Amino acid sequence: MVLGILKEQSFNRVSIVPASSKKLKSLGIETIVEFGAGEQAGFYDQAYLENDIKPSPRQTILTNADIVISIGPIQEEELSKLKKHAIYISMFAPFQYSEVIAKLDKYDVNFISMDMIPRTTLAQSMDILSSMASLAGYKAVLKAADYYNNMFPMMMTAAGTIPPTKVMVLGAGVAGLQAIATAKRLGAVVEAFDTRAAAKEEVNSLGASFVEVPGAADDKGAGGYAVQQSDEYLQKQRALVQEKALKSNIIIATAQVRGRTAPLLVTEETIQHMKPGSVIVDLAASTGGNCAFTVNNETIQKNGVTIVGESDLADQVSGVASTLYSNNMLNFLNIIIKDGKVSLNEDNEIIKSALISKAN
Ligand code: NAD
Repeated sequence: MVLGILKEQSFNRVSIVPASSKKLKSLGIETIVEFGAGEQAGFYDQAYLENDIKPSPRQTILTNADIVISIGPIQEEELSKLKKHAIYISMFAPFQYSEVIAKLDKYDVNFISMDMIPRTTLAQSMDILSSMASLAGYKAVLKAADYYNNMFPMMMTAAGTIPPTKVMVLGAGVAGLQAIATAKRLGAVVEAFDTRAAAKEEVNSLGASFVEVPGAADDKGAGGYAVQQSDEYLQKQRALVQEKALKSNIIIATAQVRGRTAPLLVTEETIQHMKPGSVIVDLAASTGGNCAFTVNNETIQKNGVTIVGESDLADQVSGVASTLYSNNMLNFLNIIIKDGKVSLNEDNEIIKSALISKAN
């Protein structure tokens, strides 16, 4: 059985790194990689070759591999090239693009969407959303620090005392918690908002203060995700965010609700009153953003406030992001491949959730 790794069309990452070769071999499969697939992440063809992964043309991978892997989905015209009954593993984001499943159903291929793996303890080692969000949270703080014209830690110098930077984190999920930890390490004073009561303890354990807005909708039964809040709640929250934002220097915005537009938490009015020189990094930009002026994939200035709308920050640490993605992939392959044979056993909750379209 042949597994093929495709070169990404719009990411710097690669889905499988050369160091994963030993484990792939132990699963009893042969692996091939598209020419140049790992270059942007620092993994050259030579390194794949030295690990018995043969660099090959894209066409060969699409038409010959039994399992094809890419992080971002390939274009529709390439889907028809996939081998009959092949398995194609990617990130189709069906929660965001509801029409995607009907499109995939037309092909005689098994489609697995890594972003549909349940967010449970059992599936943690395959959870690409968590791996990538964690890196994005870290990079968001470094980005903010870079745009910000002051320093993070309190410093007592002969020329005077510099107060610590105040960072506000909106959404204390995977990215938010990593942002809190990173900002704390840099010496900032940090406070965080979340609608999930469970987030409070995690925020406090990282040394940040938790800002509670009473009356959040119950999220039990949402699989650990947040649920949509009422307009009344969001209005109350926006008022408190504004109060805190006026005293903050940096906002890292990560608040999202699966399958919905991100909640608007930082209004135009808030930005008009924020201190000039403040920085907002909006990791929710791709789902609409938490901030009124966010432009997805762009960095803009409004009233002296820098608003960074680059939401795929994991791609800017492409080496480590590829390594973690590759580890997540290996852990998933490990449950579907035994002795060189694939079994998509839907009695397994992880496989059942991730298999979004089956071969006819
Ligand atoms: P996400 O990216 O969907 O959202 C980010 C955060 O925004 C979440 O914490 C959410 O509660 C918060 N949020 C939503 N609306 C908000 C609002 N109006 N104000 C403030 N915050 C708001 O979340 P994620 O980081 O992907 O994590 C999703 C959930 O899955 C979390 O509960 C996380 O703890 C859980 N999780 C569990 C595991 C596991 O058990 N293996 C692994 C990863 C994540």
